[in-house]
Amino acid sequence: MSSVDPPLIPGSRLDPWVAAYANRAAGMTASEIRALFAVASRPEVVSLAGGMPYVEALPLDALADTTARLLRERGAQALQYGSGQGDSVLREQIIDVMSDVGVSAHPDDVVVTSGSQMALDLVVRIFCNPGDVVLVEAPSYVGALGIFRSYECDVVHVPMDGEGLIPEALDEAISAVRASGRTLKLIYTIPSFHNPAGITQPAQRRKEILDIALREGLLILEDDPYALLGFDGTVPRAIRADDAEQVIYLGSFSKTLASGLRVGWAVAPHGVREKLVLAAEAAVLCPSNFTQGVVSEFLATQPWRDQVDVFRGIYRERRDALLESLDTLMPPGTEWTRPDGGFYSWLTLPEQLDATAMLPRAVSAMVAYVPGTGFFSDGQGQRNLRLSYCYPEPDRIREGVRRLAGVMEQELEIGQTFGTATGLHHPSGSEAPAPDLN
Ligand code: PMP
Repeated sequence: MSSVDPPLIPGSRLDPWVAAYANRAAGMTASEIRALFAVASRPEVVSLAGGMPYVEALPLDALADTTARLLRERGAQALQYGSGQGDSVLREQIIDVMSDVGVSAHPDDVVVTSGSQMALDLVVRIFCNPGDVVLVEAPSYVGALGIFRSYECDVVHVPMDGEGLIPEALDEAISAVRASGRTLKLIYTIPSFHNPAGITQPAQRRKEILDIALREGLLILEDDPYALLGFDGTVPRAIRADDAEQVIYLGSFSKTLASGLRVGWAVAPHGVREKLVLAAEAAVLCPSNFTQGVVSEFLATQPWRDQVDVFRGIYRERRDALLESLDTLMPPGTEWTRPDGGFYSWLTLPEQLDATAMLPRAVSAMVAYVPGTGFFSDGQGQRNLRLSYCYPEPDRIREGVRRLAGVMEQELEIGQTFGTATGLHHPSGSEAPAPDLN
């Protein structure tokens, strides 16, 4: 700040710049549970909260050799600026990776990004004006909701059932939005091993959703970072595999290799791809040549599909530990999803309980989860929470569920005695907090 500080704005003693922010910054608020997660990251707390991939299972020595070779043999290139669209060799390798989900595309159709999070941001940046409507699943990925908020989109949630987004509900939502005179821009969906719902759309459901998009002239934004992590080894066929013009497909190496490398990608129809590259150049000039090089070397020299298999095995064992413990320990009236892949199960609490209100007690009992309200833009989710089984060892997961069940039993008893559950107050409606987690 300058030597003459601007006066403090009433009601904002901490941030004198509050009146200067752009409208889009208004939606960028830290969640009230962030402080709690600082506590929850202590080692004695079993965290079923964050969706952190278990990168400990990577062959770190092999990666070190790969990285050293990259620097020795192509160091000057790896440490230089690169193409805004991403390295051409890596884009060819991405075509091979995507063959597993049935997508065939040309390397020219691919834009490499700093994680698929950035691809999501770029897509919304080039399509959405403030007030444009985006249709998303109920619940949906918290990081996507944050992007929609930051571009001032109106998020309309569409209900899911055990097979994901419900086509009839999608039809209804489209009609309602159109009748209201608002502009509809995108259908955002996570068809495989959904974050946070743990649900996978079967092929027929995907076809129905694509048919609706085609009929209505709507673009599908297909976010697919977990597709290769199906526990029986089956890889669901992407929606993009059946239509190259109606779908923007997002992929990532975060869950199949390493999230810290920050390498993801978008595959888009030709014109959209050009805009994405221009938007990417404006934002970051180019994705990291260095980490693209690490991914590219790894794919070229290591049995990467075997590595994905290792991850699948680890996550399957952890999913089993979670489901067995939930089956044994959860109080009556609790429901949860049974994921066939990915990182998450979505829990619905008995009627009297509130997941946000219960969180401080859970953290005191040394277990953490993400309350459901963060996965909605409209205040839904008070009886829901997301459990991630990707990171803790199976025994820790069992212990975490035991602790959670204990807290729930206690809350139910308190509720019976006093007629209400206690804990954190949380705002309702559109001010529902977004957890600062992936
Ligand atoms: N989409 C979904 C559904 C996710 O769960 C995540 C990460 N948790 C991302 C996108 C972003 O992943 P990344 O930027 O690491 O590729």
